Amino acid sequence: MDLSRLDELLADRGEPAFRAVQVWEWLAGGARSYAEMTNLPKALRAALAAELPVSTLTVSREATSSDGTRKALFETADGRPLEAVLMSYRDGRRSVCLSSQSGCPLTCGFCATGRMAFGRNLTAFEILDQALHFRRRGPVDHAVFMGMGEPLMNLDAVLAACERLPQIGISTAHTTISTVGWVPGIERLATEGPRVRLALSLHAAEDDVRSALMAVNDRYPLAEAIAACRRWREARNRRVYIEYLMLAGVNDDPDQARVLAEVLTPREAFKVNLIPFNPTPGDLTGSSPDAIAAFREVLIGRGIPATVRLTRGRDIAAACGQLAATAA
Ligand code: SAH
Repeated sequence: MDLSRLDELLADRGEPAFRAVQVWEWLAGGARSYAEMTNLPKALRAALAAELPVSTLTVSREATSSDGTRKALFETADGRPLEAVLMSYRDGRRSVCLSSQSGCPLTCGFCATGRMAFGRNLTAFEILDQALHFRRRGPVDHAVFMGMGEPLMNLDAVLAACERLPQIGISTAHTTISTVGWVPGIERLATEGPRVRLALSLHAAEDDVRSALMAVNDRYPLAEAIAACRRWREARNRRVYIEYLMLAGVNDDPDQARVLAEVLTPREAFKVNLIPFNPTPGDLTGSSPDAIAAFREVLIGRGIPATVRLTRGRDIAAACGQLAATAA
């Protein structure tokens, strides 16, 4: 919901400010319509229903994966497409994967989002409405900014959304912002806003390999991105998650694991998440499970914690890197 517009409408009608709090509390609790907001006068409910939609987004399509992952394709009021994903885990965790932009201005070669046209930054309300969409189907408790877009290129809106996520059930400690290594944004995150977690999409520990995969590396080379992460970690006293996509013959050689281990100093500042490649158009191939296991062993042998990401939602193109606002 556009909460600024709500404030204006309430002010125009001479309603007390606590009405906005009431509306938000209903939404944060999963309400689908004004009709449910029984502590609001009936006439006010009717007036709001006529003037202000309960969500800034409309659902264009929704799909469920065989593993239970749900992907929703939305449209903003001005027709921009975006996607969000809900992952339910066996331990009961329910995690929402949020988009910060419609499309993405960056052009990482392995990611489907970079191939669609960049639309625009999303507003804080458009980000929250993705989480509220899934909240209407049940509790949610984790959020990752790993949907479409580069969250640190839209940091004001992302932080404003993060301020409100706890009211939906997602604590700040359970909120993760993932970045390509947009250095000015990492620097702001060290001192501003809620103390969310930080993940860096590194994908290579050598500049030439990384630049070939991610053009943004020419602007912010990996040493600068890692240095910014170290400063963030000192300020926030939390480990940085390193995301590392496993691409056959590109970045998965055990020697490259050794280089990665050297780059990640001090080692207690980082934790590596190895990511099996989800197919996207192009000529990249994912590493074999054996290659991933061998790479992981090298890291662990050097004292760097490393896990392999569980792939979810591949059959509906809801997995990492597959969001491109197309039919599922
Ligand atoms: N722009 C931010 C947020 C998007 S996160 C970032 O890049 O971190 C998307 C995550 O999915 C990143 O770690 C990204 O590198 C990863 N990813 C992208 N394409 C992928 C693919 N084809 N298979 C698996 N993971 C992919």
